[in-house]
Amino acid sequence: MKYYSTNGRADRATLHEAVVKGLAGDKGLFMPEVIHHLPAGFFDEIQDLSFQEVAYRVADAFFGEDVPAETLKQIVYDTLSFDCPVVKVTESIYSLELFHGPTLAFKDVGARFMARLLGYFIKQEEGNRVNVLVATSGDTGSAVANGFLGVEGIHVYVLYPKGKVSAIQECQFTTLGKNITALEVDGVFDDCQALVKNAFMDAELNRHMKLTSANSINVARFLPQAFYYFYAYAQMKKMGKADQLVVCVPSGNFGNITAGLFGKVMGLPVKRFIAANNANDIFYNYLRTGEYNPRASVQTIANAMDVGDPSNFARIYDLYKGDHAAVSAEISGAAYTDEQIVETVKDCYEKNGYLLDPHGACGYRALCEGLHEGECGVFLETAHPAKFQSTVEDIIQRPVEIPAKLSAFMQGEKKSIPMSKDFVDFKAYLMKE
Ligand SMILES: *Cc1c(COP(=O)(O)O)cnc(C)c1O
Repeated sequence: MKYYSTNGRADRATLHEAVVKGLAGDKGLFMPEVIHHLPAGFFDEIQDLSFQEVAYRVADAFFGEDVPAETLKQIVYDTLSFDCPVVKVTESIYSLELFHGPTLAFKDVGARFMARLLGYFIKQEEGNRVNVLVATSGDTGSAVANGFLGVEGIHVYVLYPKGKVSAIQECQFTTLGKNITALEVDGVFDDCQALVKNAFMDAELNRHMKLTSANSINVARFLPQAFYYFYAYAQMKKMGKADQLVVCVPSGNFGNITAGLFGKVMGLPVKRFIAANNANDIFYNYLRTGEYNPRASVQTIANAMDVGDPSNFARIYDLYKGDHAAVSAEISGAAYTDEQIVETVKDCYEKNGYLLDPHGACGYRALCEGLHEGECGVFLETAHPAKFQSTVEDIIQRPVEIPAKLSAFMQGEKKSIPMSKDFVDFKAYLMKE
């Protein structure tokens, strides 16, 4: 399958090229030329399939032409070494728990898949080292660093905003060593993202070293996120709750929800989507006004969604051919302040005994306020509440148990390299690598 650029001014790329390059030559995002519709028979039996089986069918539709079946199956099965259960929160609201992977956030799925697929392609390129640049507002860095740790031929540079990620998040990418380097940027997430984007566009730097991205820009990270939408549907169907299914996605860079929209194009019977924002309500405003006005991000307690110019907006725009009415027919929006997030975590815990993380709280609340008669909602619980320990403990006034997987990271020694937000400095650093 070929991949085209959302900007329409770059040559079509093979999967290999798209995965290795990350971003198209015209700064656009890669889109698959075809989104295959899955046969009705698949949806008839989906409730009886395992997560891996469901995911392999979806993966095959995207990557089957370009990756041998056995290799692809191995990649899918290795990636999904953990479950993504749907858990009941209220009569009509369910949580798709995406935090059972190694770094306790949904990004483990895309990052683990991408590391394996990139590793497969790099093996075919004799003697080449690929350098993955990843900007993170918290969870991407840990998922990518852990997904790529020890993968031969790949070095990862994690750029994160100094003082703006939680202590636990920081440990998950600064203590690993080996092929992982953490760069502590004196700026906000958008500065980190700008440094990465500039690096990809710098001809001299690209002659010096082979660069790629592991942000949700990369198709190998972005597309596998469709897997769990199908699996969520399968679980809801099994419970007889899938007839009018609304899926709500706490959104920042909009990679996660866009993968769900792709799922719908493939035939997944989701009635509609809700994109839940924090105070960074750029997409919410786009839905209301038809105008997309990116702006500097503001810091919130749902920090992985502190994004002022969501990169995957370009994919949504492309998918619906820029038709605002078509986008609005499929997706509605919601946006919550920190005060509302706090209130929601507390309320849900007291009423339902279910502990949300600040991101999932936006999703849960949007369903509480947005479900219509007869609909059932699933929100994506994108991270484990313990990743935001102090925030959550302050809210519920009780200690939150830290899963063993997480506390293991806290034992390591933090190592990071300070970096300014000026591209000149970042480039100079990389030119010496
Ligand atoms: C990254 C992240 C999000 C936002 O996902 P996007 O794909 O960027 O929209 C939401 N919640 C958590 C916990 C995250 O780590």
